Amino acid sequence: MTNSKELVEMALKREEVERVPFCAPFQGYWALGLENVTVMDSINNPKIAAEAQYRAAEGCRMDSVEVMWDWLLPAEALGCKVKIPEHGTIPTVSHIVNGPEDLDKIKLPDINKFYRFKAAKETAGHMSERLGKDHFLIASILSPFTLAGEIRGVDNLMVDSFMDEDFVMALIKKSVEITKAFTEEIVSWDIDAVIICDPTASGDLISAEDYVRFSKGPMSELGAVIRKAGKMHINHICGDTSDRLDIVADTGCVAFSVDKQVDVGEAVSRMKNRMAIIGNVDPAGTLFSGTPDDVRRETRRCLEKGGKRGYLLGSGCDIPVGAKYENILAMSDAVMNF
Ligand SMILES: [Zn+2]
Repeated sequence: MTNSKELVEMALKREEVERVPFCAPFQGYWALGLENVTVMDSINNPKIAAEAQYRAAEGCRMDSVEVMWDWLLPAEALGCKVKIPEHGTIPTVSHIVNGPEDLDKIKLPDINKFYRFKAAKETAGHMSERLGKDHFLIASILSPFTLAGEIRGVDNLMVDSFMDEDFVMALIKKSVEITKAFTEEIVSWDIDAVIICDPTASGDLISAEDYVRFSKGPMSELGAVIRKAGKMHINHICGDTSDRLDIVADTGCVAFSVDKQVDVGEAVSRMKNRMAIIGNVDPAGTLFSGTPDDVRRETRRCLEKGGKRGYLLGSGCDIPVGAKYENILAMSDAVMNF
């Protein structure tokens, strides 16, 4: 009998599967919220952070499980100020680069001594011990382009991209170096895949042309680190990316996690010889605000469109903190009974 890990691997390799795998793909912060573990508690106590994931992973029969969700952590490691919320992603609130004169401020930190990375590593260790044998384990990390936005401020970066391309290129080059160093550590863990998250290259923020100009190359470089270590390389970009699926496939990834705006049926059929597609139940509209019936309906619609080759069912982006357990269970039930 095929276990979850094997099933996910088959789907990622675009082999025909008996059942479409349930690949959340981002349950980390949601599962912490579910057990009322604050972000600070999760950092201070990796064992509790890991335990908070088990009800989500096992109760909702997730075939893949996110074992590192603190994907923005390099920003603070570089010296940006952050504000740790009770729940959810840790936002960057101040940026270390105010102009080209600050590029030298970007220095490779002592990665393994950084408190959030130490916690992430320990948490992933606990999770792979408990789940690693039969679940497909994924770590999330930010793309070089998104890191550049954290270091500089996303709005500033958007202006720079028109006004001073050389500066942006230099910033991205530094960001490649930093994200590579983190990723080289992550791929040495007992995990199966790394998802490169690139919200700043969202289809709603930059054009396909600018994605090629600023993010595609760096994403490929980071992906090469993942692939070279024998792990699977997956990308995630928020917003409507229908116009750049081929370009994303050019980064060499095995799969692309797409947001709710993308038509899954079209994406799977267009990419059938290039990469698998993961998605894309509406996170806010359905998983957070909908009823279990709404979730089941939309999940079935995705499954009908996605088919059984090169497709994995998941949320379009992070499962929102505060989404009801019953809703995620309904998503799972719909997959298992399809
Ligand atoms: Zn997203």
